[in-house]
Amino acid sequence: NNGITESLLAIDSGRYPNVRRLSPFAKKRILVTGGAGFVGSHLVDRLMLMGHDVICVDNFFTGQKANIVHWMGHPNFELIRHDVVDSLLVEVDQIYHLACPASPVHYQSNPVKTLKTGFFGTYNMLGLAKRVKARILIASTSEIYGDPEEHPQKETYWGNVNPIGPRACYDEGKRVAETLAYSYEKQDGVDVRVARIFNTFGPRMNWNDGRVVSNFILQALKDENLTIYGDGQSTRSFQFVLDLIDGLIKLMNSDYSGPVNLGNSEEYTVKDFAEKIIKLVKEQREDQKCTSEIIMLPGLEDDPHRRRPDTSLAKKELGWQPKWSVEDGLKETIGYFQRQIKFFGV
Ligand code: NAD
Ligand code: UDP
Repeated sequence: NNGITESLLAIDSGRYPNVRRLSPFAKKRILVTGGAGFVGSHLVDRLMLMGHDVICVDNFFTGQKANIVHWMGHPNFELIRHDVVDSLLVEVDQIYHLACPASPVHYQSNPVKTLKTGFFGTYNMLGLAKRVKARILIASTSEIYGDPEEHPQKETYWGNVNPIGPRACYDEGKRVAETLAYSYEKQDGVDVRVARIFNTFGPRMNWNDGRVVSNFILQALKDENLTIYGDGQSTRSFQFVLDLIDGLIKLMNSDYSGPVNLGNSEEYTVKDFAEKIIKLVKEQREDQKCTSEIIMLPGLEDDPHRRRPDTSLAKKELGWQPKWSVEDGLKETIGYFQRQIKFFGV
């Protein structure tokens, strides 16, 4: 696994990785929707390195060709520009359905489209899975727990979501996606897996997605003030993207079909997180400086107050637990944004 991690990091530093050769019996044809996005592109990398045939489908709403360009022309790789709100005809063995904007700024910019992606996108991919008898993994989210009254959150918790608030298009879209998945399982025997993904960060996060990790790192790298919404006492638990990829692949290939939390239980208040990022950026900058200060702005409507996964089910059923500390993951991510600023002036 370390070898794979190194290969993935090598891709980002412009070196070409070795793809494993699989026998025709072991080789699967795998569809990744949202494959040009942050999480999807890391998943494409891992599946490609494992030697599978990968079809990446994306409408490039928030994804970028730059995230997958290193696979263009490879015989195992295919890219289809397509919106999952419309139906898709391909023949595959497995489907990882990730297509959906994930950051509040993006999913709130067109809430009706977010809902259409949540419902029709998932409906189309489940219909495809049913037709070709593929196993399908749905990327759900900790947001289905809303502003949780239970802490940490277990899979048995039903959630506390405002159905008409600004986050509802995403939260309810994902809730109905889960309902659709289990309805197809019951009614038509579709082989479904559901990952409830908690806040994830790492290289290839969108620099302009307004999320706390990308905002704080870029602000600290540019000596701008770090913007906290509210009093900074809300909490989040952050997992490094390569841990998530391990979890998604283990879940897809396990016999467990109920929803599974995938996240890191290291929980931070937003204020402590801001201080940590200032410290790490200072250590990683060539000039060893960071003059950013922390400023408080008005809080966001319906911002969940705390969030931490209970991941005992993932440990029991998948033998999975995060391996990356938040600090090591942040160092990789800071390095990524430093390279983005240097080469692209982000
Ligand atoms: P992202 O925005 O980087 O990636 C989403 C990808 O889906 C993008 O490439 C985008 O262009 C594509 N897409 C969006 N709508 C589409 C449509 N209608 N048709 C085809 N492609 C479409 O986000 P991400 O962080 O990589 O998230 C991937 C998945 O994981 C999402 O389903 C998200 O809800 C889920 N998730 C992510 C996080 C996180 O912290 N990043 C947390 C929980 C759940
Ligand atoms: N946040 C913040 N400043 C920022 C961006 C986000 O204080 O510049 C806060 C936000 O209000 C929330 C937390 O950080 O409490 C995580 O926000 P993010 O958008 O990253 O993820 P989500 O709210 O979807 O968990």
